[in-house]
Amino acid sequence: MNDKEILHFINTNDKNEIESLFKRAGKVREEHYGKSVYIRGLIEVTNHCKNDCYYCGIRCSNTNIERFRLSINEILDCCQTGDELGFKTFVIQGGEDPWFTTERVIELISLIRQRYPTHAITLSLGERPATDYELFFQNGANRYLLRHETASAEHYTALHPSLQTLATRKQCLCELKKIGYQVGAGFMVGSPFQTPDCLLADLRFLEELQPQMVGIGPFIPQKDTPFCSYPQGDLTLCLKMLAITRIILPKALIPATTAMGTITPNGRELALNAGANIVMPNLSPVKAKKLYSIYDNKIILGDEAAENLQLLKEKIINAGYEPDMSRGDAKQ
Ligand code: SAH
Repeated sequence: MNDKEILHFINTNDKNEIESLFKRAGKVREEHYGKSVYIRGLIEVTNHCKNDCYYCGIRCSNTNIERFRLSINEILDCCQTGDELGFKTFVIQGGEDPWFTTERVIELISLIRQRYPTHAITLSLGERPATDYELFFQNGANRYLLRHETASAEHYTALHPSLQTLATRKQCLCELKKIGYQVGAGFMVGSPFQTPDCLLADLRFLEELQPQMVGIGPFIPQKDTPFCSYPQGDLTLCLKMLAITRIILPKALIPATTAMGTITPNGRELALNAGANIVMPNLSPVKAKKLYSIYDNKIILGDEAAENLQLLKEKIINAGYEPDMSRGDAKQ
């Protein structure tokens, strides 16, 4: 798709045009992945974070939040629950918490790898030195999620304190790819100061990076952040971005995110219809789910909880898809 077409889709309100974009994306998804929707188990391991992203509820300046951190044993318990439920991918996600030293993360990955030799281990622990990424990979991690947030350097500066830069973020993503991880990038839709050109830059960056996974979700204000009074991202725009991503990266694994399900009750079903093919129910203990409050009103009950897997599977089937509990690696 050329720039003009993409900007046209971003701006159009024509229902038929939007619907046919979603259909086209759905077809592309079907060519590569059929009707399968892969199910991953998400474990939120810590809400301590040394970063201060203006949009995020677990930013270090937020004093109005109870902090938690799961012990290695608690994380292993979550994996065991997940394994018993049939999960073949564990996604270990957290803030950039210095407690998770190189040694501790290696210990954690090695223990998970030892117990579950064939499961996929996905990490989402933020920016780390390349040597860490290398060691985590050698010890059994397979995938790494690190959203680029916005591919416009100027916009990145508007969303983060000056210590955090787009250049560093891109550098991390390149290193992860080079090491051999299946890499996930992604961005928020409707974050403050975002323009259509920012979104275009996001898509062009994805084309260049060729990540195996792309996480896209609406910005949702969190009450204790500097962006508390900005409006939430628009669902339709989010779905359009998801659909275009599917068309330009046909084999990408694209989640129907919790954030989409948070702003609209059937948000994740709509995301599946626009080309998504992953869901990530939450395996964390209830307390962790509540305290991992990156945005307000995060859904944690019902099919969002991994324990209610059956309900989630039924919803996927009712939406016309097939729940798939296999590892679901990216197609080459
Ligand atoms: N599992 C979550 C995604 C969390 S991944 C979901 O499905 O929605 C962590 C990402 O959350 C960050 O990279 C950032 O893009 C996003 N995030 C942080 N604060 C946010 C906010 N206020 N609104 C929306 N997304 C936010």
